[in-house]
Amino acid sequence: MQKQNILFNLDDTLSYCNRYFNLVINQFADQMMAWFDSIKAEDIKQKQLQLDVAAISEHGLKSDRFPESFVGTYQYYCDLAGREKKKDEIQYLRELGYKVFDIPVEPIPHMNETLQRLKEEGHELYLHTGGDEANQRRKITQLELTTFFEHRIFISEHKDTTALSDILKTIKADTDVTWMVGNSLRTDIVPALELDIHAIYIPAENEWQYNMVEVNVEHNSVFLTVDSLQEVPEVIAKRIQNQIM
Ligand SMILES: [Mg+2]
Repeated sequence: MQKQNILFNLDDTLSYCNRYFNLVINQFADQMMAWFDSIKAEDIKQKQLQLDVAAISEHGLKSDRFPESFVGTYQYYCDLAGREKKKDEIQYLRELGYKVFDIPVEPIPHMNETLQRLKEEGHELYLHTGGDEANQRRKITQLELTTFFEHRIFISEHKDTTALSDILKTIKADTDVTWMVGNSLRTDIVPALELDIHAIYIPAENEWQYNMVEVNVEHNSVFLTVDSLQEVPEVIAKRIQNQIM
């Protein structure tokens, strides 16, 4: 079988991620509703999302962004309600936000067997993840991912087409045998198609709004959507088969 380069995203592709953020965001909204009269959970979450996403262009995918979006939302509502901003409440919210980085991560079903099969088939596996070094390393260690990726791990604070392009140059990838597998249309799929490598989109159970964009890219590469991680080896094998025939 012709060896392929397969780049995997981590968060919500190989391991759960959004569910932990949603859990903490719900706790945040509950606390806010206890402090402020007549504000709705949906509005709080919308403001938090807005501040969180706005900070990405400035600071990238650094972990601090998330707790600070709680503080920013709190300050916004204090101003709106003419309520005093209390240091201990700010501190409480910041700590609540950081709790998301202490939750042990769980793999997406069939993660190990999927990676194992691709490795046994002789493919070169790469990890391409966005976020800050410490938090991503924590998850990589917990999931024992170096078994499959060894030193072929790339962590980008700005996970975009430039970041992917740099990786492809570093690994001297032949685009015709190179794949990006991920849950994010914005940061996995669009960059892959812009660089004309193959893309496999696996929608997540509940997606962060930031990741959802229209895919409108001209490309000559393969673009597939599958329901689960488990299907990845099969669709890649099929493509190789079609190339041979
Ligand atoms: Mg992801």
